[in-house]
Amino acid sequence: MGVRSPGTAYVLLHHYMGEIDGAFRSWGFSRGGTGAISNAIGAAAREAGVEIRMQAPVARILVKNGAAQGVVLETDEEIRADAVSSSVDPNLTFLKFIESRELPDDFLEEVRRYKYRGSSGKVNLALDALPDFKCLPGPGRHLRGAISISPSTEYMERAYDQAKYGEFSHRPYIDIVIPSLTDPSVAPPGKHVMSCFVQYAPYKLSKGTWDEQREAFGSAVIETISEYAPNLKSIIVGKQVVTPLDIERQTGLTEGNIFQGELSLEQLFFLRPVAGWARYRTPIRKLYMCGSATHPGGGVMGAPGRLAALEILKDTGKGKH
Ligand SMILES: Cc1cc2nc3c(=O)[nH]c(=O)nc-3n(C[C@H](O)[C@H](O)[C@H](O)COP(=O)(O)OP(=O)(O)OC[C@H]3O[C@@H](n4cnc5c(N)ncnc54)[C@H](O)[C@@H]3O)c2cc1C
Repeated sequence: MGVRSPGTAYVLLHHYMGEIDGAFRSWGFSRGGTGAISNAIGAAAREAGVEIRMQAPVARILVKNGAAQGVVLETDEEIRADAVSSSVDPNLTFLKFIESRELPDDFLEEVRRYKYRGSSGKVNLALDALPDFKCLPGPGRHLRGAISISPSTEYMERAYDQAKYGEFSHRPYIDIVIPSLTDPSVAPPGKHVMSCFVQYAPYKLSKGTWDEQREAFGSAVIETISEYAPNLKSIIVGKQVVTPLDIERQTGLTEGNIFQGELSLEQLFFLRPVAGWARYRTPIRKLYMCGSATHPGGGVMGAPGRLAALEILKDTGKGKH
């Protein structure tokens, strides 16, 4: 939502809490890109004896007598298990993977009310050289940090105004990083990648489709940055525009919400994902939730997964008490 919408200051706090290697309020790059973190976690898990199956989409969660028994893959292969832990959102977990008769009506009602409303897009640019910002010309340490196009509160609120009526912001609020300055492995020598996180790009458009508007959205972002870094257009050698619809198609995230559901106050803390079920358990025995749709929400931090694992260990009698 917009910066003046009640409760949204929490979202700012959510982005600045925590620390990396002793640096508080900071964000980090992982060498090789964010996927390197998943690979590192995967490698540690394999070393501990875990078997990880990839390219194996789950189609259903098997439920019998009110308890989870395993999963069925899209290939119809059944995998039986003592417990099932879902790190996808409540829409997929409860409305897609499980028959509604297995769940209490009031719970299903809450799950249907849970809000996603993805509102961000990304524009990734491959560059021949570095952008040259009018306010601080030339290369320098400033390009290694976070660059934000958010000249005023009024500007950001106006960017949201358009989204409120189902349009992407024509003058968006943009968070930019150039990871190749910190990690040269992500671009060829002398070249750069520029990652632009853009608000607002509402999942539901009032006119047309995202497939029709993707190009215009990308252009609005490039035009806006060019006002601050006039050399930008001349150094772009490649461009990837990712809309909320693309995020949903590529990752399964419902409505392209990057955090598996809005971080609005009514679905945070003890209300995430829904009231009464915030402690990683679900109305189905032996079925747990362990992703960003649970407390403390989205971000590459692993906290929901760890907290869920501790609860599962408690229930199975394997945890330390
Ligand atoms: C564009 C974008 C930018 C972001 N930027 C940042 C950032 O800069 N910093 C940050 O901290 N966070 C960022 N986030 C948020 C962060 O990526 C998520 O909060 C985090 O990945 C959540 O981890 P998770 O394990 O809860 O869920 P996910 O990472 O969503 O993991 C769920 C997994 O389930 C898989 N899956 C989906 N459907 C099925 C199925 N049917 N069967 C089996 N598997 C399935 C998915 O492929 C995925 O691997 C960003 C997210 C997006 C989309």
